[in-house]
Amino acid sequence: MLETIKKWPKVELHYHLDGGLRPDTIKEIASQLGMPLPPDEEAWRSALHVTDECPSLIEYLSKFQLPALCLQTAEHLKRAAYEAVEDAAQDNIKYIEIRFAPQLHTEGGLSLEDVVSSVVEGAKAGERDFGTIARIIPICLRNHDVARNWQVLELTKKWIGKGVVGIDLAGDEAGFPPQLHRSVFVAAKQSGIPITIHAGEAAGADSIRQAVTGLFAQRIGHGVRLAEDPELLEFVKEKKIPLEMCLTSNIQTKAAPSWEDHPIRQYDELGIIVTVNTDNTTVSNTTLTQEYERLMRYCRFSFSDLQRIVLNALDASFAEAEVKEKLRAEFKAEFGRFGSA
Ligand SMILES: [Zn+2]
Repeated sequence: MLETIKKWPKVELHYHLDGGLRPDTIKEIASQLGMPLPPDEEAWRSALHVTDECPSLIEYLSKFQLPALCLQTAEHLKRAAYEAVEDAAQDNIKYIEIRFAPQLHTEGGLSLEDVVSSVVEGAKAGERDFGTIARIIPICLRNHDVARNWQVLELTKKWIGKGVVGIDLAGDEAGFPPQLHRSVFVAAKQSGIPITIHAGEAAGADSIRQAVTGLFAQRIGHGVRLAEDPELLEFVKEKKIPLEMCLTSNIQTKAAPSWEDHPIRQYDELGIIVTVNTDNTTVSNTTLTQEYERLMRYCRFSFSDLQRIVLNALDASFAEAEVKEKLRAEFKAEFGRFGSA
């Protein structure tokens, strides 16, 4: 089953550059930089990956420290983006949106402009060499002050249409509600920039409500806790706001109790647009193929359900209309070839 799903053309909408940085690349850069390294394989594993015993989102976010330290030069950022596209191509992902927070990559002296241009350049080189179409989403951070997030918006405005396709808000959701950054997202909306916001992961439905009503989110990152507010659920359904669900990550951060109890199937049956993503292939130790395979195993989705969810992701992507159209035709032909038994 895993091999069949691996061959399917797929779309990844929610992938963090730092959380997907290859373990071997982290090891190589960390040793080049003379960082104190974990003493053995076991210690490396616990430095890089979370397990199902991860107590919270805060613990989950602690796994990003090492990759962040490794991504402070133009060369390393280019390499990370390039390898992200190569890894996506290996998993037969035909279109990927790679997100990252530019403000976290200036500690080595890079300007914000250099940070974004390096990631765009790496992704374009990957696209050229491996054929997977790659687009970039800069992230504003909840725990940063509004002035720093305005800088991220300015960068996004400059790069939109040149490899960048949208803007995101992420970070400590329980401590910093979306509303704090409303002005930035109102301005993004006025500039016609597509918006996705992490919400309903570590905080409840009210966070999703703020994201979709106050901050104009066109997609929601996770949205696990949407069902806590039936009226909001109806609104999300009616407005056709897709959810970027990341099941392994949702279980690790305790946003959902288990695979069997994850609400994705309930949302899909209610007519909410759901998509399946990895969040962080390294931190969560997963691949997109594995996410789809587990959905089939634990949540009783059929092949045809999963293929429909792949097409949901393509439709929900911030890709240019002609890219979507071309990929839709290719995906339908491929799915026809594999059958939906
Ligand atoms: Zn995320």
